[in-house]
Amino acid sequence: MTKKTFRILDERTVTRAPPTSPPVPGRSDALVSDDAEENPYWAWEELPPHPDPSKGCIRRGLCCRSHPGRFGPGEAEKAAELLNMAPDAFVRRYLIIDEVESEGETVQVFAPVKLDRWGRPALPTGGPVDKLYRALRGQCVFFKDNGCQIYGARPWECDAYVCTNAPEDNPSHADVAQRWIAARGDSAEGA
Ligand code: SF4
Repeated sequence: MTKKTFRILDERTVTRAPPTSPPVPGRSDALVSDDAEENPYWAWEELPPHPDPSKGCIRRGLCCRSHPGRFGPGEAEKAAELLNMAPDAFVRRYLIIDEVESEGETVQVFAPVKLDRWGRPALPTGGPVDKLYRALRGQCVFFKDNGCQIYGARPWECDAYVCTNAPEDNPSHADVAQRWIAARGDSAEGA
């Protein structure tokens, strides 16, 4: 089997076992074996540099091809509605549960699942992800034909992030967590 190496954010090389055949949705365990391929899941291609960063987002899809944004409170429901799906079915089919932190508190949030190099969910949808999943780049399940299939109800983080912004002008993980914490407080007050 040809070894293929892909870069991840911290430049480590990661090895996981190749998928079983026929494909099954659950392949979350990191395995290292003699017949494993190096980093087989993420088929990352370097995109050409932005032709004019002063123009901001020109829909190159850089973020959509690497790290899908996380939903804020109530947004997954709106995206489900856009696709004419029940929220529960939408989550089970398209989303994973990620963790973001703010001031020492860990908050669980929904995000679109990343796809592997075969165009399948890289981890089982409807459940939590691991650190390796977070570190590796993968195309968002909603990125098709160079566009977002839920653009009108895309996650807050997608809406707020622009790859040409200075880091301090883009949303942070803590910002996402804060939105969920604030929503929790609002609903407690309204109860
Ligand atoms: S939800 Fe839409 S905007 Fe956000 S990463 Fe996916 S394709 Fe891109």
